[in-house]
Amino acid sequence: MSTQKKADMDPGFRRDDTHPSSRDTQLSSRRKPGSIYQWQQAQWQQLWGAHSANRLPHALLFTGLAGTGKTLFADIFANALLCTAKEAPCGECHACHMIAGNAHPNKIVIAPEKAGAAIKVDQVRDISEFTQQTALIGSRRVVIIQQANNMNVSAANALLKTLEEPAADSLLILISDQIGQLPATIVSRCQRIVFPRPNKEEALQWLKSQLKNNDTAPDLLLNIAHGAPLKALELAQDEALAPRKMLYDALCNRADINPVALAAELEDIELLQLIDYFLSFLIDVLRLKLGADKAMSTDYQQQLDLLQTKVAAGRCVGMMEHLQHMRNQVMAGINFNKQLAVESMLMRWRELVI
Ligand SMILES: [Zn+2]
Repeated sequence: MSTQKKADMDPGFRRDDTHPSSRDTQLSSRRKPGSIYQWQQAQWQQLWGAHSANRLPHALLFTGLAGTGKTLFADIFANALLCTAKEAPCGECHACHMIAGNAHPNKIVIAPEKAGAAIKVDQVRDISEFTQQTALIGSRRVVIIQQANNMNVSAANALLKTLEEPAADSLLILISDQIGQLPATIVSRCQRIVFPRPNKEEALQWLKSQLKNNDTAPDLLLNIAHGAPLKALELAQDEALAPRKMLYDALCNRADINPVALAAELEDIELLQLIDYFLSFLIDVLRLKLGADKAMSTDYQQQLDLLQTKVAAGRCVGMMEHLQHMRNQVMAGINFNKQLAVESMLMRWRELVI
């Protein structure tokens, strides 16, 4: 059976080259690693292989932990699809020049207008008009929707219509690290591409190459970022770890915290961020309690060693469940009175430490 026939029978993507004999695929697979992150090669081969075999679906959903480079990948993949050269993206053809000037008529990027804002229905209506237009150059049109889970309900409904009646030669790439917040009707209409975090060695190697004279150890940054390299690099910037330090110092060093006063001190920190740091802190306490030698937060090793002797494991788990429940509610869009939520967190913590 020929490769082409095998590919025809395969309804999904293959992990490796869809067309091992295709010159196009091999060339692109070889030169891509210089542009995308090195840990994304499998996803590139999968998608470029599908493109070469004319098997790209109308909608892709890029998912996985935040901070691994999905947005950059989506951008480069879109550019490669629009480039007219054999080895795409070449950076030299007319299409690539237009892309570089943000002026390619066949590519649009939709994102929240500011951090934390919703993607509104008007933005999504633009997509529908865009994909229905006659292409000005070439034929394919690409839409990238960053932080797709930030679409409000009417925006999601409008997008659903576009997904139900896809225009020929259009590709929608949705990016989300919180797909639980996307309507199932949207998720089910997209081909899901998972971007896992790279292995630790690879992530560390990359992070070290990016850090210059940073005081914080790369492996600690990576631990705090749960293994996401770009997130770790972000945390290396000035003051990025200040919220964590505020919380950790308070939890470690203050025997008798005042929840009301401390909640007021933590006012400027996002609730989700506080919950995540608190959870990481408790995971460390629990790990040490259960016999681990080293805390993930190596910079607080001594304090955590001491603290774990003062906390009962069961109550620590109870606290984690409480925080996880609160986290789920925040993720589901429930609005909390932040001051009260933080106070209640801290009160529980105070009762927990003997
Ligand atoms: Zn080009």
